[in-house]
Amino acid sequence: MCFEQRSLLSFALNTCNAENPNCHASKLQVQILGSGGPELTINRASSSYLVWLNGKAIVLVDAGGGSSFRYGQSMAEWKDLKTVLFTHFHADHSGDFAAMIKASWFGERQENLPVFGPYGNNFMPSTTEFITALFGHNSGGFKYLSDFYDHKDEIASYRLIPHDIQNSKHTHEIFQDNDINIFALQVQHGPIPAFAYVIKSCNKTLVFSGDTNGIGFENLTLEKTDLFIAHNAIPENAGPIAKSLHMTPTQIGKIAQQLKVEKLILSHRMNRTLGKEFQSTENIKKYFHGTIKFADDLDKY
Ligand SMILES: [Zn+2]
Repeated sequence: MCFEQRSLLSFALNTCNAENPNCHASKLQVQILGSGGPELTINRASSSYLVWLNGKAIVLVDAGGGSSFRYGQSMAEWKDLKTVLFTHFHADHSGDFAAMIKASWFGERQENLPVFGPYGNNFMPSTTEFITALFGHNSGGFKYLSDFYDHKDEIASYRLIPHDIQNSKHTHEIFQDNDINIFALQVQHGPIPAFAYVIKSCNKTLVFSGDTNGIGFENLTLEKTDLFIAHNAIPENAGPIAKSLHMTPTQIGKIAQQLKVEKLILSHRMNRTLGKEFQSTENIKKYFHGTIKFADDLDKY
């Protein structure tokens, strides 16, 4: 058994994929496709990330506006993706997904593509409802692309397989293969169903916060986090509504300390945090003493 889950509040993740021959001299990287938030800016796509292993982009996390263009610039191949993860379905995290699916018609993907994301509630569709609303052959907004989902003609070379991650306080594994283990952690983002993701590969651990006010991370303890991609969407003195949706720099610092982070990448940069990097860094440093980087589109770590 490659994986072991211990207690509910404090769990350790053990995987066997360090023994995988792919792990010898392996190179695990995160590329920022979109370092911005929902604002339209001259140089930032909305939220989106690629996880690269040994020169192949194997996981896409979110697909906000502009990210399909950045995907093309990254030179990643759609056929190499093992899975797509959505942290939640705000447009700045999902708006370019249909463009990517259309573009993939011109690619070489043959294997079905699992898509993971949250359950639904009164504010948001579930992942299955979201995919159906886009591509369902009856009434999808892009039903001309329904061959990628539920149309029986099968002109497309693969299908999207949506998975709804359920409402749970317990961090749990959602995807595993020889190279990678992916765990979902439910986090609070106002009333929107939202998940953070822990990705382990070749003894490295990546954590993607997604959009969250930080509640939920108290359920996660890690022995070491190599890279924590956290969303720096608000300044320290933000108002109560913004704080109900996003983490302050002080909260990011506390979580980074708790997760034993080595390198912290601050993304989802917005007009209200741009220009405040010094203050944000000072507040984070009250708790976190590792490396801090501010993300720009197409950066690779
Ligand atoms: Zn967002």
